[in-house]
Amino acid sequence: MSSPDAPSLVWFRQDLRLADNDALIAAAERGAPMAAVYVLDDKAPGAWKTGGAARWWLHHSLAALGADLKKRGIQLILARGEAETLVPQTAVRMAAGAVYWNRCYEPFAVDRDTTIKAALKAEGIAARSFGASLLAEPWTVKTQASGPFKVFTPFWNALKARMPPSRPRPAPAIGQNMTNIASEDLASWNLLPVKPDWAKAFAEQWTPGEAGAQKRLTGFLEQGLDDYRTGRDLPGIDGVSRMSPHLHWGEISVRQLWHAADARGGPEAEPYLRELGWRDFAHHLLWHFPELPQKPFSAKFVEFPWREDKPALKAWQRGMTGYPYIDAGMRQLWTTGWMHNRVRMAAASFLVKHLLIPWQEGEAWFWDTLVDADLANNAMNWQWVAGCGADAAPYFRIFNPVTQGEKFDVDGAYVRRWVPEVAKLPGNFLHRPWEAPADLLADAEIVLGQTYPRPIVDHAAARSRALAALAQTRG
Ligand code: FAD
Repeated sequence: MSSPDAPSLVWFRQDLRLADNDALIAAAERGAPMAAVYVLDDKAPGAWKTGGAARWWLHHSLAALGADLKKRGIQLILARGEAETLVPQTAVRMAAGAVYWNRCYEPFAVDRDTTIKAALKAEGIAARSFGASLLAEPWTVKTQASGPFKVFTPFWNALKARMPPSRPRPAPAIGQNMTNIASEDLASWNLLPVKPDWAKAFAEQWTPGEAGAQKRLTGFLEQGLDDYRTGRDLPGIDGVSRMSPHLHWGEISVRQLWHAADARGGPEAEPYLRELGWRDFAHHLLWHFPELPQKPFSAKFVEFPWREDKPALKAWQRGMTGYPYIDAGMRQLWTTGWMHNRVRMAAASFLVKHLLIPWQEGEAWFWDTLVDADLANNAMNWQWVAGCGADAAPYFRIFNPVTQGEKFDVDGAYVRRWVPEVAKLPGNFLHRPWEAPADLLADAEIVLGQTYPRPIVDHAAARSRALAALAQTRG
């Protein structure tokens, strides 16, 4: 066993913050000199390498973390390659006595971390992991029969019974540090797009990093939380917290969010806390059912008659389906790396039900384009929309892309912002331009099929086709 004075190494992953960071706090309490490491490991299996938009976020978040650590005299070592090799190697090189990290729940991360823990222990280095990303560790919330939950409401009741979570702790005071360990240069990782710079509008919307997360939380508590119950359904206003990328990268602890919302909102905070509960539920499902990102939870969907339709998939990805509400969402996603939840549901439903394109295609597109791309949340929600998930929307509930827009974007502000081609149409035709009379189209400078597409599928026909496919699946 190594001596208690041997240095500590903190391995940062999806916990890019100093406050309420259990691994960092434990390392500080240990008292020995400290260094920190982040490993860019692109060996994630299959399609789950960090996507394009998330890489933009990661670049800025690491820059912020590196600067925050530096102010405290701690070096953030950047290394690229397989974490199985690099984490033990770094620990051995600095003669570390302990390596600490906060847990991730992706199946490949769990396997990798188990291997690393064993390798470190074999070197006589203490290795400890902590739970700092969720309200409760996935294996601690159990049904009466000690099994995992598959339905949200009983999960939520069981989780709530254990709340509040522990109080968030401030960034620890750090004594001695280690510096001057070889590190790669962040810029050399090329995490930012070069040409074309599709992320050019991201910086207007987002401030990655711990300070940006704290600022956004303060803004939401002051301006959004009180009206969240109704405001969260309206994509045209600033009615939600937009904390999702900050939460994914762990720039703020969910425990802090819980306490802050609860203290500010009292009973009015319940709908918001419930959303945080959905996030925990997604991780609970991923932990217990590691095939969630690729395999339908409901076995009967294995035989579902999905279609391959590359032109339709492309039209959906580019926001050119001819349904303004869907197109607005897909363009908001492309331009800002984020889409409002109400529209995510309608856009996802359009892909899997109107177009009968496999949910995994949509999941992959979201993975690459969302700054909040999160394996658990993305997989659970796609399966929910597709109707094949654990606690899913019934398949026969097919979002109507016109009436969804008319209900949640009543004044048309959302569509007008993201689909300027139809912005001059009056409200009664904004969500259904193909029904507008010729003179109105002319006044609005719209030539359907030229300045804006005609619908790529007819809603009623697509709905019947989807229901027929479901009937076939049921046998
Ligand atoms: P708020 O309404 O302010 O909610 C607060 C927090 O609660 C969010 O930041 C998020 O962490 C959590 N949350 C809210 N809704 C959900 C939900 N339905 N499931 C799980 N957690 C939730 N969210 C992601 O973080 N990453 C994803 O990759 C992702 N993919 C999605 C794919 C589809 C098809 C759909 C329908 C939803 C997806 N979501 C995903 C969930 C949800 O849309 C986003 O979390 C939410 O829109 C983020 O905005 P917000 O932070 O303003 O949310």
